[in-house]
Amino acid sequence: MEKEKILVIDDSTVQLEYLCSILGGDYQITTCLTAEEGLARAKEGGFSLILLDVVMPDMDGFTLLQHLKATALTRHIPVILLTSLADVQYEERGLLLGAVDYVAKPFSPVIIKARVNTHVQLYLYQTRFREQALVDELTGVANRRRYEAECQIRWQEAVRFQLPFSICMMDIDHFKLYNDTFGHPAGDQVIASVAQTAASRFRRATDLFARYGGEEFVAIFMGNDGPSAFAFLKSIREAIEGLHIPHNSPVSPWVTVSIGGVSLVPKSEDDYATYLKLADTMLYDAKRMGRNQVVWYSENKEQWRERT
Ligand code: GH3
Ligand code: MG
Ligand code: MG
Repeated sequence: MEKEKILVIDDSTVQLEYLCSILGGDYQITTCLTAEEGLARAKEGGFSLILLDVVMPDMDGFTLLQHLKATALTRHIPVILLTSLADVQYEERGLLLGAVDYVAKPFSPVIIKARVNTHVQLYLYQTRFREQALVDELTGVANRRRYEAECQIRWQEAVRFQLPFSICMMDIDHFKLYNDTFGHPAGDQVIASVAQTAASRFRRATDLFARYGGEEFVAIFMGNDGPSAFAFLKSIREAIEGLHIPHNSPVSPWVTVSIGGVSLVPKSEDDYATYLKLADTMLYDAKRMGRNQVVWYSENKEQWRERT
């Protein structure tokens, strides 16, 4: 198994070498002699813990700690302070600023190892928990909670920057029949395949594709007008049908989806919920008009359909 990465920031080469000799067997260690360099390396990411000397020339450890805690990329990385015995008030200040622990110099190798191990383990659990809280277990795509947390924020961005914004609802066709025919576990597999096929096509950083619940999905994305969003979702619908997952539905020999959506440049007086409902109405239209198709709507009241 790959070793966890630790960043050690201390202006003394002797200290750095000593810490490497204690921890180098269990961890992959990066060393920095200044706080500035430490901050830059920390932002590169991948570290499970930072050991930070408090007293350094130029930027001190506290200032660096404040930067780390104020930066989204580094906020969650646990920081253990390295302090001298005389620095009780430093310990207080460091812990108040968000350090998880401190180790007094001169170090006991056993103590520093134990504390580092504890905090790396806690960090790994925390990271996994944070990720799981936002990911749908069955499909691996974003879950409803993540969607709910992000949709309004993204909508507000679109309002602010006057970006074309799209909301898409997608639902597997005759899925109750699929479960009844092939069984619930096979149905679960289908939900996962459909989700992954669609999610892999939402490639932009601003795209969000999430499981809305059951066999229903929601996507929000920016930058497309009505016709291009319609064409994009049509290609996704075709890719899902193209998986050729056998189904004896009245619509197709394969598993298919119906998709409804809307594109607009939202104004500040517009309401996200209204357009989500409109996307759902378009999905309903797609179902009503025979399923296995995309129906899309735009702010100037145009509608696009695959079949008329
Ligand atoms: P329509 O084409 O109108 O969407 O028909 P449908 O049968 O897909 O729609 P309906 O909403 O009646 O049924 C959805 C089915 O999806 C019912 C439910 O058993 C199934 N379902 C929901 N969540 C899951 C799940 O997590 N796993 C499995 N296997 N089935 C699920
Ligand atoms: Mg369905
Ligand atoms: Mg449904």
